Amino acid sequence: MYSSILFAKPFHLLLANPPHPDVADRQSEKLPESADIVIIGSGMSGTSIAWHLLMDNKSNSTKVPRIAMLEARQACSGATGRNGGHIRPSSYEEYVDAKKVTTQEQAAKITKFRANHVDALIGAANKLPAQGAGRLEEPFAEAVRQWETLKKEVPEVGNEWGVLQRDEAVRISLMPDAVGALTGTAKVAGAIWGYRFVTNSLKMLLDTYPKSLSLDTHTTATAVTATSKNSTHNFAVTTDRGTILANHVVYATNSWSPHFVPMLGDALAGGLLSMSAHLGGAGLPKPGAWPAYHNNVSLPGGRAWSLFLRGGLDYIVQNPENGEYMFGGGAGIPEPENINQYDDSVFPAAATASYLNGALPTYFGYQNWGAERTDFPADLHQDVIYPGRTKRVWTGVEGFTTDAFPFVGPLSQKFTNRAVKNRAAGGEWVSAGFNGEGMDYAWLSGKGLSEMIRNHMANATNEPLYEWFPQAFLPTQERLRKQNSTSVARRDVDRSSRWV
Ligand SMILES: Cc1cc2nc3c(=O)[nH]c(=O)nc-3n(C[C@H](O)[C@H](O)[C@H](O)COP(=O)(O)OP(=O)(O)OC[C@H]3O[C@@H](n4cnc5c(N)ncnc54)[C@H](O)[C@@H]3O)c2cc1C
Repeated sequence: MYSSILFAKPFHLLLANPPHPDVADRQSEKLPESADIVIIGSGMSGTSIAWHLLMDNKSNSTKVPRIAMLEARQACSGATGRNGGHIRPSSYEEYVDAKKVTTQEQAAKITKFRANHVDALIGAANKLPAQGAGRLEEPFAEAVRQWETLKKEVPEVGNEWGVLQRDEAVRISLMPDAVGALTGTAKVAGAIWGYRFVTNSLKMLLDTYPKSLSLDTHTTATAVTATSKNSTHNFAVTTDRGTILANHVVYATNSWSPHFVPMLGDALAGGLLSMSAHLGGAGLPKPGAWPAYHNNVSLPGGRAWSLFLRGGLDYIVQNPENGEYMFGGGAGIPEPENINQYDDSVFPAAATASYLNGALPTYFGYQNWGAERTDFPADLHQDVIYPGRTKRVWTGVEGFTTDAFPFVGPLSQKFTNRAVKNRAAGGEWVSAGFNGEGMDYAWLSGKGLSEMIRNHMANATNEPLYEWFPQAFLPTQERLRKQNSTSVARRDVDRSSRWV
């Protein structure tokens, strides 16, 4: 599948290189003794929750909460700091698939929720200081049928997509084997450099709210316990640098969340995904110079593709500044050992790494690819960036859920096995499990969760939920019961091996 993409902002596309000077290793001199809210995890989810709790608070009567964010490693060192940056929900396919699992009304809500991420993320990025094609006939025909359903049933999203037949698809994508393309307008498709967006957001929040937000990196939360009767707070969060008392605890910990909430382990598992960065062939167009097509309303920038080829989803995003390519995927290569993995320090398996190194010229065709480029970056550090076609290859851990929806919302005591002494004062919450599509799930999930928490702080209740927020994401017992716990997720896996 081919999808035309705008770039929200000219973010670079390399993994923590360089690391954010003010945020990557940030620590309080002394770990805070207490906080209204402890957020565990500093990726897109944790950052969105902190952002919306602090920035959307103005019109609310609740006081600005005191938030302590904990991160086991460097800031934003999980999936968000390792991803391809694609904000590209395949609305046509996802709507039809979601209807198989939930009601039509919920499926439509989820489809709109995901499509709204481009606007939401561009809006958020603009608040930061300045720096800051399907190629097989049947899948293509199926995608076109799905798009027709979407157009009929959710026209406000469906009308943002268009279909190009073979000749036009080949002409604009420079992929000789393309059989057709679905193109999304700038409203429903974009790209962002997750690491830079998140670390610059954290920097802005820490600068703007020094009394309300602390960030402690290299601080692993190892356990959460209910406090005794005399304690001032509901929970004690134990870390390797001391204990923090908190009224609310938020798990923004991706696939590691079941470490704290084992029941979620029946439906949420870690999967190792692989990603790579490439110079690209000298024959490929520079950003902004790709063949134009009707209805191309992209902002000037690189181009991006999702390709359903070779049995898995591959995706490519071109960096608008230097023309380099982020290429992720290889999911079609059978490596069952990638499921239930929680260690993202490992190198991709040989077959996947070889695929990532070699597949791009075969997508574009060697004629279009041209000669290999040799204009390596001036600041090349060969221990980190390789001098060759492939600049770097790495892994990240994604949180898969068995029904393909994230878990976002309040956790009942039945889930956590922890009695909450003073429910009016707080509780436990989760925002995790974005199924390899966090860029069009996690930001607005964080906004939704922050509204739920703020509402709880104002009314001491978890209700009501919001018109725009899909109830299908709530961590309910009924939802867990419906899931097939024998598929990928396992409660008995030790997820602490990476960071303890
Ligand atoms: C290789 C790869 C490519 C991807 N490409 C795309 C893409 O192109 N488009 C897209 O939409 N999505 C993509 N995704 C998915 C997307 O990156 C994720 O869904 C999203 O970043 C998840 O954000 P998060 O904040 O929930 O989790 P994370 O970013 O993983 O953050 C969780 C954080 O919690 C920390 N943590 C965990 N346990 C503890 C603990 N006990 N104490 C303290 N800290 C802890 C971790 O260190 C981590 O930093 C990709 C994922 C991977 C792995």
